[in-house]
Amino acid sequence: MGLTNQSTGVNVLDNELKIQRTSPYDKIIALTGNPNVGKSTVFNSLTGLNQHTGNWPGKTVTNAQGKYKHKETDFIMVDIPGTYSLMANSVEEEVARDFVCFGNPDATIIVTDATCLERNMNLVLQTLEITPNVVVCVNLIDEAKRKKINIDLKELSANLGVPVIGTNARKGQGLKDLMDAVYFMTNDTIAPSPLTIHYEEPIEKAIHILEPSLQALLNDKLNSRWVALKLLDEDETLLKAFRKYLDFDLMENQMVNEQLKEARKVLDKADIKQDQLRDKIVSHIVCTAENICCEVITIEKEHYNLMDRRIDSVLTSRIFGIPIMIGLLGIIFWLTITGANYPSAMLANLLFGVEERLTGFFLWAGTPTWVHGLLVLGVYRTLAWVISVMLPPMAIFFPLFTLLEDLGYLPRVAFNLDNFFRKACAHGKQALTMCMGFGCNAAGIIGCRIIDSPRERLIAIITNNFVPCNGRFPTLIAIITMFFTGVVAGPYQSIFSTLLLTGVIVLGVVMTLLISKILSRTILKGLPSSFTLELPPYRKPQVGRVIVRSIFDRTLFVLGRATVVAAPAGAIIWILANIFVGDLSLLAHCATFLDPFAWLLGLDGYILMAFILGFPANEIVVPIIIMSYMATGSMLELDSLNQLRELLVSHGWTWLTAISVMLFSLMHWPCGTTCMTIKKETQSIKWALVSFLIPTITGIVICFAVANTVRLLGLI
Ligand code: GDP
Repeated sequence: MGLTNQSTGVNVLDNELKIQRTSPYDKIIALTGNPNVGKSTVFNSLTGLNQHTGNWPGKTVTNAQGKYKHKETDFIMVDIPGTYSLMANSVEEEVARDFVCFGNPDATIIVTDATCLERNMNLVLQTLEITPNVVVCVNLIDEAKRKKINIDLKELSANLGVPVIGTNARKGQGLKDLMDAVYFMTNDTIAPSPLTIHYEEPIEKAIHILEPSLQALLNDKLNSRWVALKLLDEDETLLKAFRKYLDFDLMENQMVNEQLKEARKVLDKADIKQDQLRDKIVSHIVCTAENICCEVITIEKEHYNLMDRRIDSVLTSRIFGIPIMIGLLGIIFWLTITGANYPSAMLANLLFGVEERLTGFFLWAGTPTWVHGLLVLGVYRTLAWVISVMLPPMAIFFPLFTLLEDLGYLPRVAFNLDNFFRKACAHGKQALTMCMGFGCNAAGIIGCRIIDSPRERLIAIITNNFVPCNGRFPTLIAIITMFFTGVVAGPYQSIFSTLLLTGVIVLGVVMTLLISKILSRTILKGLPSSFTLELPPYRKPQVGRVIVRSIFDRTLFVLGRATVVAAPAGAIIWILANIFVGDLSLLAHCATFLDPFAWLLGLDGYILMAFILGFPANEIVVPIIIMSYMATGSMLELDSLNQLRELLVSHGWTWLTAISVMLFSLMHWPCGTTCMTIKKETQSIKWALVSFLIPTITGIVICFAVANTVRLLGLI
């Protein structure tokens, strides 16, 4: 669900630990925390930026940066992907650990969820093992109060040996105290004395053997006790990170090697095998977290989340879960389709009125006909279509979808679909990455980092394109609006349209599952891995904020992208339509060439060409189709949505063409940004090519089957 530039594919290509310090006095603050604890909300409140927020785990996948000033000091805040631990089990955990270790932050804020502090405490304790400069932010303090959970923050601070600040980030409460604590920490006014976790005797002995030589080598750059523990734990990823960030290979040092052997002997003697060591470390941290929380938390009401569980028993029930999910999607589509008609028609009237004025102006100014043709009939007209056909549905659909997201419904969707994904031998979290794909496939593909197993991650990446993104949703809705609903939609028409759109989306999900299954049985064989899916508490959505953000960050962003690509595309199409080779324009030549193949798929040459030209951005497919038809001269004065239908029909469109366009829009190659992201995420041209070919071939096969079955049965 990308609400930000990041998730719409702009920042997604940048993931290294680059910090833009503008002055040597800037202080760098790392912001970490478990997923879904309000980290982005804290980040946004402090920096004034718009990192994506939403009530589900796994949204932030890259390091975002922002600035704030406090007490005349400039702070650069780096928002790190949400993670449960720093054990480097997944890409996110590695990114988080690497930043805390090697990003040289002056302080690290760990945002925690006051309603489930114990679970969050693991990350706090692990971070304290790496760095003492930690400020713990206990967020969602209002939710905790509502659930009658009391936390003794002073006691917690005394136990951890670092400042602890309670906040309600949504309302901005406690943030000033948080900034103060960070200021004092970076100013050396506070001297933290972090809790040291003491492991059992043999492990402590082994650490002691290694620590002194490491201390000398690391020169206080890293906590030597922690590095010793990691060496004993044989954490390969850390050694790799050393080579990457410090140009330093610990294992090349003879002293370290010898002492490591000696330390291992101590562990062997105590019968602590390699695989048991990690378990012992983890369970010790968990026990410590439990003990601390027992001391500082009191819960007044026994079943504090009874209400959430009741709602979940319906929304995630075996019988009602899926129908409710499809029903909710249907309601959103219905509201979008019926609500978008009138504003679309009004915008078309307005913008084409302006076109007349522009034409009048060009006539008055006596500009050559080709200038008027290129600028008004080419560029302006395409832009007018992009805006009038796509803006209204987006302005309704995105806020509605974001409201569901903010409420906490998406993890429930993942929960409902988990079983299906497991049957397809894929990962349950793929449902979440699929949901992200509804916003932007490039963001969905980056989001696949939340899946640890490389096999399942690849499956999720390859199949992400089967759900329509921001750019393709309006295409689908526009086709339905133009072809099936018309401007005066009767009740049946709009219900039919809703069912059609819901059907197409459900088909996308079914295809995701089917292709995942085929991949698991063929080129990506394997069994699904298990995982725990967190169902976050339901939270009251911030309606105003959701509307504003989804209009600005999503609707206008997509529209802007469409406009930027559509304007030159409009000009190109006008030129192609007006340069003649023989009797036919270049546009007609291209379309005639593609026509026979396109016909087999239920399309025509112009439509297929629009899809090809739409490779940079899917948003422009429909405007290109319209422009191409208009450029062929059959109808030059087109100023209402009703006439649009006539335009399509006059070019041979039937209901089969409309359905085929929708199917092909759902299943064809990923857009340019998505292809680049796949290449970057998989580090392989081969997998990028596979991800390109699979949806394309599937789309061709399905469109071919549907079109020719309908024709053979004589339904058309
Ligand atoms: P992140 O995954 O840690 O970045 O979490 P987000 O910042 O996206 O927040 C998750 C959800 O919690 C969003 O719906 C926020 O609006 C909500 N939220 C964040 N902080 C608070 C808070 O202090 N109180 C309440 N009630 N909700 C919060």
